Amino acid sequence: MTAPPNEAPLISTSSETLDPQNWDEIRAQGHRMLDDMIDYAANIRARPVWRPIPDDIRARFRDDLPRAPSDLGEVYREFTESIMPYATGNVHPGFMGWVHGGGTAVGMLAEMLAAGLNANLGGRDHIPIEVERQIVEWTRVMFGFPAEASGIFVTGTSMANLMAVLVARASMLGAQVRRHGIGSEGALLTAYTSTAAHGCVSKAMDLAGFGSDALRCIVTDRSHRIDVVALRAQIAVDREAGLMPFMVVGSAGTVDIGGIDDLAALSALCREEKLWFHVDGAYGALGVLAPALAPRLAGLEHADSIALDFHKWGQVPYDAGFLIVRDGVRHREAFAAPAAYLRRETRGLAAGSPWPCDLGPDLSRGFRALKTWFTLKTYGADKLGAMITRTCALAGYLEARILAEPRLELLAPVQLNIVCFRYRADDANRIDELNRLNDAVVADIQESGIAAPSTTVLDGQLAIRAAIVNHRTDTCDLDALIAAVLEFGARRSAA
Ligand SMILES: *Cc1c(COP(=O)(O)O)cnc(C)c1O
Repeated sequence: MTAPPNEAPLISTSSETLDPQNWDEIRAQGHRMLDDMIDYAANIRARPVWRPIPDDIRARFRDDLPRAPSDLGEVYREFTESIMPYATGNVHPGFMGWVHGGGTAVGMLAEMLAAGLNANLGGRDHIPIEVERQIVEWTRVMFGFPAEASGIFVTGTSMANLMAVLVARASMLGAQVRRHGIGSEGALLTAYTSTAAHGCVSKAMDLAGFGSDALRCIVTDRSHRIDVVALRAQIAVDREAGLMPFMVVGSAGTVDIGGIDDLAALSALCREEKLWFHVDGAYGALGVLAPALAPRLAGLEHADSIALDFHKWGQVPYDAGFLIVRDGVRHREAFAAPAAYLRRETRGLAAGSPWPCDLGPDLSRGFRALKTWFTLKTYGADKLGAMITRTCALAGYLEARILAEPRLELLAPVQLNIVCFRYRADDANRIDELNRLNDAVVADIQESGIAAPSTTVLDGQLAIRAAIVNHRTDTCDLDALIAAVLEFGARRSAA
């Protein structure tokens, strides 16, 4: 043994580590946190769905950077007082706004385990990546994709849609688009979706360098399904004008009213016209797990790529978006990039190529796959399918209750799990008055903590929108929503 040189710098003691001095204390604190969060989920219905944030609570998060340490128990007390009661509310069965999953205790525990392993899923040879590949394989089989398909976890469908546009772009223009940019040829590319598509599709066209004007939004029918005849006509007009159609984005579950495009017709059209067929299946694609819904998604198996979220109908805690691409080679060609510090080997920790960083923009990536793996294994795909079916049945129950109430009016056909309706007042018959009234009623209900619907606008009419995504939602929650709409509606129209 050689003695350290005399001039070695002085290293302070190991008290500089971030590990606790006393593991028993953090163990006890951890058990308390775990018990509290399990109680939180178990007793969630007793809480308000959401509550307005008091000014003094908000002010607590305008604090200076802490320089000195604080006791963990004290920081946790701040969490229970100032954070936990003021969350979004989507764990609560009365949450029906936007499209939010409810999460599960199983997913929560898996998140803790993932954080404990602190795995980086950008690449390298370790089992967490095999867990992600297992989910890719399950998803591939779920959608009837071929063996050469590839997939990857991402934040959400917004990112997955953007990545699909980038894969389609490289597929159309060749991989050199990544060096040269889209150039004058790329400026001619046009993509197609419906007016009911999610806004992130337009944003994806913007971010991919085409500009959102290169996205043609085709009209839909009353159920928000794309008009395939109009789509075909627009493609012909664009080709005639010297443009280069390259991609169609179909919707499996539109965000406003849950419409499902005729995916079989879209896939046939794309085959004929040699266009990339991408499906935004953010929440709807997992409907393939529900035997009653699966036939309505026919054609999904012919897509070139599908974006979906396990954090919506799949109930995996945020975030767990996913992209699956039929042709894994094209997927890699759009993102893989060599780097000396990311050299691949055939043995050791740098083996196992290709790595997830070859399939998307991220290098460092968390272990989203683990909470999804726990969810799929613990519940099984059939139970998740039954839960999805039940949310649609609950939407049917809500629809029936609305149809039976003279004061309520349905504003869109109920196709899946989303119900759009409004309160009708005798003395508020002008459209802007009705819109204002219903907007105020939704805010009243949110602030009451009884339920959390959101709003949307359909043909200029403001709708109260209830999307039943949460597996905890039951008829009593829908009855409470109806009662609240009637009560706040009557109060507002009397005032
Ligand atoms: C939620 C949603 C998106 C966006 O997905 P994120 O996971 O929020 O990024 C896109 N399309 C549809 C149809 C959606 O419901």
